[in-house]
Amino acid sequence: MSIAPQISSVGTGPTHVVGEPAHAIVLPDDTTVEILSSYPVRPDADLHSLACAVEFACARCREHCEATLVGVRDGWLLCPSCYAALDVSDAAPAPRVPDARSAA
Ligand SMILES: [Zn+2]
Repeated sequence: MSIAPQISSVGTGPTHVVGEPAHAIVLPDDTTVEILSSYPVRPDADLHSLACAVEFACARCREHCEATLVGVRDGWLLCPSCYAALDVSDAAPAPRVPDARSAA
């Protein structure tokens, strides 16, 4: 019998945030982790800073991840890099790089 680590290990699964506006996140294994700060910087996904690191499988890249900063999109956990990548893939096309050939 081993001693359980401090880090909550959860599988891939839906999660949800409880409290108003957001004080805790309930992970797929029913572990509740306090949310220190929430950053609703996107309309479709939130970023939460947690009181302790959680271990989870990212819903987007499927990578095993351990982080205190998690993204939640449609109830699914995203690793910080995938959350950041959402901005890249979903955002409006970046302005075109000026064409050097036509630059005056
Ligand atoms: Zn990921």
